Amino acid sequence: MVDVKVKSKGGEALIASLTKRLQDDGVDIYLNTPATDLLLDDDGAVAGVLCESEKNGVREFNAKAVILCTGDYARDNDLNAELAPETVGEYTATAVSNKGDGLRMARAAGAGLHAYQESLSGNFNADPFDMPVVGQPNNQFPFSVLLVDRDGARRVSEAAGPHDQQVFFIYEDAPDHAWAIFDASVAEKFLNLDTYLEKTAAGSPFIQAFEADSIEALAAQIGIDAAALTATVDAYNALCEAGEDTQFGKDAQYLDPITEGKFYAVKEYDMTRGNYGGILTNERFEVVTDAGEAVPGLYAAGIISSGDYFGDYYPGREALSLCAHGGYIAGQNAAAAAK
Ligand SMILES: Cc1cc2nc3c(=O)[nH]c(=O)nc-3n(C[C@H](O)[C@H](O)[C@H](O)COP(=O)(O)OP(=O)(O)OC[C@H]3O[C@@H](n4cnc5c(N)ncnc54)[C@H](O)[C@@H]3O)c2cc1C
Repeated sequence: MVDVKVKSKGGEALIASLTKRLQDDGVDIYLNTPATDLLLDDDGAVAGVLCESEKNGVREFNAKAVILCTGDYARDNDLNAELAPETVGEYTATAVSNKGDGLRMARAAGAGLHAYQESLSGNFNADPFDMPVVGQPNNQFPFSVLLVDRDGARRVSEAAGPHDQQVFFIYEDAPDHAWAIFDASVAEKFLNLDTYLEKTAAGSPFIQAFEADSIEALAAQIGIDAAALTATVDAYNALCEAGEDTQFGKDAQYLDPITEGKFYAVKEYDMTRGNYGGILTNERFEVVTDAGEAVPGLYAAGIISSGDYFGDYYPGREALSLCAHGGYIAGQNAAAAAK
């Protein structure tokens, strides 16, 4: 068993405190009521939204301004193929409802698209629809594992950090992934290993964790050439025994040789958290056209309009502050304009 337990995840607490504040201020919240269209007034300004769902039927909400904060579009393969083709076929842990509805509505109203449409990638996890709490010592995998690519080669220090590691394991024809290889001594520290083994045995289509009596048998289970994996393990064990990682400089405290059966392999997916970029906004968080003209009455905040903040690389952990900051400014400007 591992000595580290995940106690709670931050998102739940964030949602609870924001919900309480809205309720205290008398704001009505409609769940399961997706917006489908923007309403326009006689002058062509955005003046509300139309919502439609099986549960609530069609509802019309009139307003002096609308703020789109419908997140990213990673759950929509048509938009992925059009805007961020390299993300097609990757798993994502973004909200199941993030299908780019807001982006589509904004485009129909004239919004421009940001030049950057990229994946919030960079975290490895055995379950590509979830993520261990960032900051846990055993987050993703203990640093003592050996990380190999699908050819069985070691590519980077296992303690390098998620974003730095992930770039070594990008494939054009398969979800981006690495294999964590370790023995019984490290298995003790591997968060959720038993669950991953059980789910694999039960036929999970994506969780892939294996146990074997030898490295050769493990290689056969994960489809890596046995001679290649054995050579990598032998070379890695030699570094561990020497106490110095002359290959990639991993700290000596994480150099545990892979000698004590049973042996394990866990597939670590690049768990993307959605696609950023989206539509164009100005510094007032008004939605703008390609020419920079504001679409009257329409604002956007959050990952739906985030290309200016990350460029072509998401360093990690900054998205929530951008969403809160943008939401605050968009709300202030929309409220002022609506007076
Ligand atoms: C597993 C995971 C871990 C993450 N960890 C971190 C982290 O540690 N730090 C960090 O900064 N960021 C993190 N992120 C990224 C961050 O959570 C997101 O970028 C951020 O939540 C985006 O906020 P948002 O308000 O723009 O969109 P979201 O939080 O995605 O919310 C969009 C909302 O819009 C709703 N919606 C969609 N379509 C419609 C519609 N038509 N009508 C009405 N509502 C609609 C959706 O249901 C959803 O509730 C993580 C993301 C994931 C998935």
